[in-house]
Order: sequence, then C-alpha cells, then structure tokens
Amino acid sequence: MRIGICGAGVGGLATAYGLMSLGYEVDIFERASELRTTGAGFNLWPNAGRAIHELGLRDQYERISVKLDRYIELDSEGKELFSTDTSNWPQKYGAPAVGLYRPELAKMMVDAVGLENIKFDHDVASVENKGEKAVCHFTNGQSYEADAIIGADGINSKVREQLVGGVNFQPNELYAYRFRSIIKLDDVDVDPAAQTGFYDRGGWFSYIPIGMGKAYWFGSVSGAETFDDFVEFFRGWERTPIPETLDKTKPEALVKSPLQDVNGIPYKWTHGRITIIGDAAHPMIPDMAQGASQTFVDAQVIRDVFTSPKNVEDALKKYEKARREVASSVVKISQKGLFLGPYNVDPIAIRYENEIEPLTKFAQKN
Ligand SMILES: Cc1cc2nc3c(=O)[nH]c(=O)nc-3n(C[C@H](O)[C@H](O)[C@H](O)COP(=O)(O)OP(=O)(O)OC[C@H]3O[C@@H](n4cnc5c(N)ncnc54)[C@H](O)[C@@H]3O)c2cc1C
Repeated sequence: MRIGICGAGVGGLATAYGLMSLGYEVDIFERASELRTTGAGFNLWPNAGRAIHELGLRDQYERISVKLDRYIELDSEGKELFSTDTSNWPQKYGAPAVGLYRPELAKMMVDAVGLENIKFDHDVASVENKGEKAVCHFTNGQSYEADAIIGADGINSKVREQLVGGVNFQPNELYAYRFRSIIKLDDVDVDPAAQTGFYDRGGWFSYIPIGMGKAYWFGSVSGAETFDDFVEFFRGWERTPIPETLDKTKPEALVKSPLQDVNGIPYKWTHGRITIIGDAAHPMIPDMAQGASQTFVDAQVIRDVFTSPKNVEDALKKYEKARREVASSVVKISQKGLFLGPYNVDPIAIRYENEIEPLTKFAQKN
C-alpha cells in the first residue's frame, strides 16, 4: 500500500516514520526547496514523549532533549510565586517534560525518514478522492496517486481547505505576537534544569534550557507590536535577568510570530481516503505549548490504526475518532491563556497535570 504525506514538518515526518516502520511505501511532499534549519526552542510534554517512544525514537529523542525537573514562576521583581518539582514525571507519566532546540528536532526526524525520501519543491494545490485512490495535485502541474493521503501541511493547510473550507483565525486579543530567541545558558542566571517564567499583568517572559549550552527564551507583551516595544516593557524588571538577555539578543536572531486564535477546529478531518493531522487538523494558540505534542500523538495513532487495518477508510475514521475530540479540548484549554492572564489560570505545569493528562486517559478509554 502506498501513502502520500503533504508537508515535511514534525507531523509529516513523524507520521511517515511510523508508517515506514510498518512496511508501507510512503512519499513525502514538501513545498519548501530544502530542509528548514533555522528556528528557536521548543517545549515538549510527557504526552509527546510517550508518542515518540512508541514510534521507536526514544534514544534519538533523549539525546537531543533536556529533562525539565522544575517549573518556577516569579514576578517582575524576581520574587518566587510558584514552583513545582517535575523530576518524577518520567515515572508518573512515562516521559519527562523537555526543552530542545527546534532544528535538532527537525534533524532527528529527517534522519529517521531519510532525506532522500522527501520530495522538496512540491507545493500541494489540491487533493481529491478518485475511485479506489486519493490524488494530490501540485502547483507545478504534476499529480500523484496513492491509497491514502495525509495532509500535514500546517496551519494554513491546503488539504484542509479542500476538505472543509477555511478555519476562522483572529489575532489574539491580549498578545498579538510572541518574541523568541536563543541565548547562551551561561549568560543567564536561571536554574539550568527548570523552565523559569517571569509574569506580571500585561507581559511575561520565560526561559527553557535546550542543550548544547543554550537556553531558549520566549515572551509576549500586551500591545507590543515591535521588538522595541517588547524591550521597553521589560526595562524596569531590573531584578530579573530579562533586560540583560534582551540587550544581548541580536535582532537577526530574533523570531517574531503572530498569535492567532482559532474559532473551533474543523468539524471533520477525514473524507474518504484523505485526512489531516497536526496544525492542519488542530491549529491552536501556543500558550500550553501543546501543538507539536498533539501532533506527535496524531502520528502515533495513525501508525496504530494502520498496524492491521480493515481498509483505508476505516483506519482513517478510527484515527479521527481517537483524536478529534481530545485535540479539540486541547485547543479550548490553550485559549484560556497563561498564568496571571485575565482568566486566572494556574501555572502551566499544574495545568498540564490537571487538564491535559486526564485527556490521555479519556482517549485510552475510547
Ligand atoms: C510561537 C510558537 C511557539 C510554539 N511553541 C511550541 C512548543 O513549545 N511546543 C509545542 O509542542 N508546540 C509549539 N508550537 C506549535 C508547533 O510549532 C506546531 O504545532 C507544530 O509545528 C505543528 O507541526 P505540523 O507538522 O503540523 O506543521 P508544521 O511544522 O508547520 O509543518 C508543515 C509543513 O508543511 C509544509 N507545507 C505547507 N503548505 C504546503 C503545501 N501547500 N504543500 C506542501 N507542503 C506544504 C510547510 O513548509 C512545513 O514544512 C508553537 C507555535 C508557535 C507559533
């Protein structure tokens, strides 16, 4: 059986790897001309870790990730508001929360599937079910036929557009942008085994160790449109390491990402022999840092439903049944925002334990 995957992000590659390990013939199509080697840091949670272990990538994952043993939240004066020990999460949840460098994660996934198996410069224009096959058409005029097609083409998915039309995005009301970069871990006075966040009304800033002597920082400020606005907001936070970090951040190393709220996830993911995964299926605001974690779970479930499928349509329906309701809940949970935001939610580590982990148990029961 042959399966086509549109998009070579973490979701497309993890799904390809799972299907290849079952012996399927898999073709991966990517719009870009080459592998993306830029990017900042990433935070992945135990639910992602368990899926990655299940997919058979545990050793590679452990090599590139830094286990987070603590979550610490402080205020703008550097006074501790909250801290929790997460060092027992591998025993409790089967995998740790980790920080990692995004290009290392991309490289890990490409090494797993083989660079030669990715067809770059293939921009998906449309997809269709045709008899016993699914067909993908590219903007270069070429077409491709397979037994199933999986749309892993990210937040502005063309495959999703074909299946269910558009998804309504609106700029996030509180924080329009997330600013992010990488700094030397030695240059910042934070716990090297913790995610350390500084919060106040109107803005926040967080550090995560990501290995190779680096730390990832990321934050948002209400009303900040430019990096200068962002820097200005933190100028008075002198008892925190933030002003110095921002001084050391070179503008060319800065990543500025718009934050968009989504008005409900697509009402269905699967049509015949075509389905969607990852951000194509469940775009979400990154406040719970769950987008990629959920995407790895999608990949694992796709692998599971294709282990001994009755037929392709049935396998894809089973995948959607196992994942859509859970992912929809995670999208809603993510929309409640962050600690000290307007919804008075708990710190993220507590929310992971209380709100995200129970969904895993729910999914297993179904
Ligand atoms: C600011 C920010 C911070 C985040 N932090 C975290 C975090 O810490 N932890 C976490 O778990 N998640 C985080 N996320 C979410 C995470 O980045 C996504 O959920 C994850 O990348 C989704 O993976 P994906 O494979 O579905 O999509 P993507 O990674 O976007 O990959 C999609 C791929 O498809 C390709 N493509 C697009 N269109 C086409 C086309 N027409 N034809 C062919 N190829 C196409 C793209 O080039 C790309 O390679 C964050 C997101 C943002 C915006």
